[in-house]
Amino acid sequence: MKYAESIVDLIGNTPLVRLNSVTDGIAATVLAKVEYLNPGGSVKDRIAVRMLDAAEAEGKILPGGTIVEPTSGNTGVGLALVAQQRGYRCIFVVPDKVGEDKRNVLKAYGAEVVVTPTAVAPESPESYYGVSDRLVREIPGAYKPDQFSNQFGPLSHYETTGPEIWADTEGTVTHFVTGVGTGGTITGTGRYLKEVSADRAGGPVRIIGADPDGSVYSGGTGRPYFVEGVGEDMWPGSYDPSVPDEILAVNDAESFEMTRRLAREEGLLVGGSCGMAVVAALRVAKDLTADDVVVVLLPDGGRGYLGKIFNDEWMASYGFLGDDGGGADTGVGA
Ligand code: PMP
Repeated sequence: MKYAESIVDLIGNTPLVRLNSVTDGIAATVLAKVEYLNPGGSVKDRIAVRMLDAAEAEGKILPGGTIVEPTSGNTGVGLALVAQQRGYRCIFVVPDKVGEDKRNVLKAYGAEVVVTPTAVAPESPESYYGVSDRLVREIPGAYKPDQFSNQFGPLSHYETTGPEIWADTEGTVTHFVTGVGTGGTITGTGRYLKEVSADRAGGPVRIIGADPDGSVYSGGTGRPYFVEGVGEDMWPGSYDPSVPDEILAVNDAESFEMTRRLAREEGLLVGGSCGMAVVAALRVAKDLTADDVVVVLLPDGGRGYLGKIFNDEWMASYGFLGDDGGGADTGVGA
């Protein structure tokens, strides 16, 4: 019989698929690593299980313990599903700007959701950081993984994402492109790929980050953008800036247009940060030859964005649909 012991055992080992349409005119092979095929629907399942394995090994969380994390998105889903399988309680602290749908996903997995006001300073005790810190102090046996500082996040990619790409491309990958949020994916995957290819005749794998225009990684100041899950207004501990060889800035309009093309032309219903990463990957690939193999990581699926990126009215209302192909300044979210 072929079956997994638990849904947690199905995390990772995601496939590579060739992009065939959006790559029109490009000689290099461009392969997408499809992370929405993880059980929780995103790349973040990988860090969730690794951070909890480490916390158990280090005695930071004990049987029946409580996980507290300020997150509204993919990391919450990953933590919730692993926690549920291992008997931990999960509390997520989310700002009130986070939509009902996202909160309901977390609750569906059995997690508790505490909503905090967005309109307060980060250092306020009412902020989402303030509330999560208080819950960790007050709840006996509480543990906060803290994906922005936890080194087991990048390590999960060093141990799984990197080796998977190397094995599946039989050591032929020449470029790796991924979006940068906490920086865990690029740090861990990039470090592994550089190390394993260091002595290769053609030189090491080149590591390229994709970043929303305005974010600090590509030299911005944290200016608002709409693409979710990537970019920062500060430098987190989970990111090692020595790993990427290059960071490319991509604007919202380009990211969203490509996200829609991936669904229509490649059959990949994916999130906005995937479109962003593919824009960067194609920018890199257009100058390469047929001998090059570019791997681009697609972090999550598109279902969570149906009301935005895949909704013409929403797109038009921000100027993202238009003959000029965009370049709209969003000006929203400040
Ligand atoms: N895209 C999405 C949708 C994400 O949720 C994340 C994680 N924040 C990323 C990209 C970036 O991954 P990382 O945090 O590993 O840099």
